[in-house]
Amino acid sequence: MIYRCKNCGGNVLYDPASKQMKCPSCDSIESQEMVPSQEPMACPNCNSPIEYRNFGSAARCGACGTWVLNDVMVSPPHKINVSIPFKITKYQAEDKLKNEFGQKLFLPADFLSAKTLEQLKGLYIPFWMYDYDTTVDYTGVGTRTRHWTSGDYRYTETSFFNIRRSMDIMYRGIPADASIAMPDETMDLVEPYNYNDLVEHDNKYLSGFEAEACNMPATEIEDRAIAKANEDSRGWIRSDLTQYDSLTMEHYNYNNRPVGGRSALLPIWNYEYRYNGKNYTFYVNGQTGKCVGTSPISKKRAFALSGILFAALSTAICGIMMFLGVF
Ligand SMILES: [Zn+2]
Ligand SMILES: [Zn+2]
Repeated sequence: MIYRCKNCGGNVLYDPASKQMKCPSCDSIESQEMVPSQEPMACPNCNSPIEYRNFGSAARCGACGTWVLNDVMVSPPHKINVSIPFKITKYQAEDKLKNEFGQKLFLPADFLSAKTLEQLKGLYIPFWMYDYDTTVDYTGVGTRTRHWTSGDYRYTETSFFNIRRSMDIMYRGIPADASIAMPDETMDLVEPYNYNDLVEHDNKYLSGFEAEACNMPATEIEDRAIAKANEDSRGWIRSDLTQYDSLTMEHYNYNNRPVGGRSALLPIWNYEYRYNGKNYTFYVNGQTGKCVGTSPISKKRAFALSGILFAALSTAICGIMMFLGVF
């Protein structure tokens, strides 16, 4: 399906800056009508086949440039429950990359050039979000020590405490990415997202971006959410026991009771840069602007600079030798 402008027939896109649907051709706002695809994998505008990424739910038509949604992948049972629509525009994402990496030494000349930055694309990553009502029980022994000196003697007093803590914790929306293609570590680096911006998902947010439907079952990746909950629970217990100098745990028990869950899409800008036969991948969080990636080093530029350094050093050494009367 596509979102077509009722005024001019243009392709209406979601605009992160105004948080509205905007027609780039005639500038009208919220003028869209939804046009379904006749063929699921064909562009409703020019009928060319669309090359979706694996499990892709939105992409751009390579032939006419229209942003298309895959009707099947955005409808039940693939329909997404909640999403954080893009907040960072493409231009802002470019600026973030330039600020983060533009000052680095030895960058290849065309890294972050206008032409290569054209490839920067907005992508919605699918997540499952899990809710738990968790109970944590902790028992252990804590000590507190105090030292003092009296006359010639130093005294140490150690007090022992039997500790028992029980906590009820409500976890709502612990995320785990449900994309096979996206490395989990990368998503961990791009996080955190501010989940206060989650809204009920509307397919119009996808117009102008690429997207994937959830492509890993919620049950398969739940371990990652449970691990996050457990780590957080241990943190809560620890933060409640800071008054002790030492702790010996005797018993720790937790129970995460699942009470709900939903699918979500989170926004990310993706910049692929190819240099000397190697791919460099960069991400900008589409909500917060946080950048992740390692920039390539141009050997030519590194050699050029070390050449200058070497020349400067040689001059200095010559100067010293002349001073010593060697020449
Ligand atoms: Zn228009
Ligand atoms: Zn097309």
